[in-house]
Amino acid sequence: MKLLIENWRRYLSEEVKLTISKITDLVCPEATQDLELNTKNRDSAIKAEHIQYGPLNVDEPADYWVKIAEYWNTTPEAATKSVCGNCVAFDVSPRMKECMPGETSDEDGVLGYCWMHHFKCHSARSCRTWAKGGPIETDSVSADWQERSNTEKEE
Ligand code: SF4
Repeated sequence: MKLLIENWRRYLSEEVKLTISKITDLVCPEATQDLELNTKNRDSAIKAEHIQYGPLNVDEPADYWVKIAEYWNTTPEAATKSVCGNCVAFDVSPRMKECMPGETSDEDGVLGYCWMHHFKCHSARSCRTWAKGGPIETDSVSADWQERSNTEKEE
């Protein structure tokens, strides 16, 4: 029994070391450091028919929530509850907060990194590719998304 516990401890500590080295090896996503690239990716996400990132002004959303509700086949009220802030791709982990330049919150929410479309998005906005399951709040999950993203780029 003692041996089993010892082996288990050793295994766990190796896993922790691996996770730590995985996180420290990763650099900030390019778009968090390059304003031009971030703007380009954000503008593409606004314009692309299958993404439609918005609304531009969360206080004056015009018909943004009505249109996205039609697309999702739901009500505007339900649509407003599906935002970047609770999307599976929205990264506000401690390591990603370090990648953000300066203050990233306002009265409506916070900025995080979108792993689906690669730009700094706002928690109160949304897009057509929203998926339940977020936000990303731990460095290890953030590292997993980055590794998958790097693999996709290589392929
Ligand atoms: S975080 Fe989610 S909802 Fe926000 S832009 Fe990215 S995919 Fe869309």
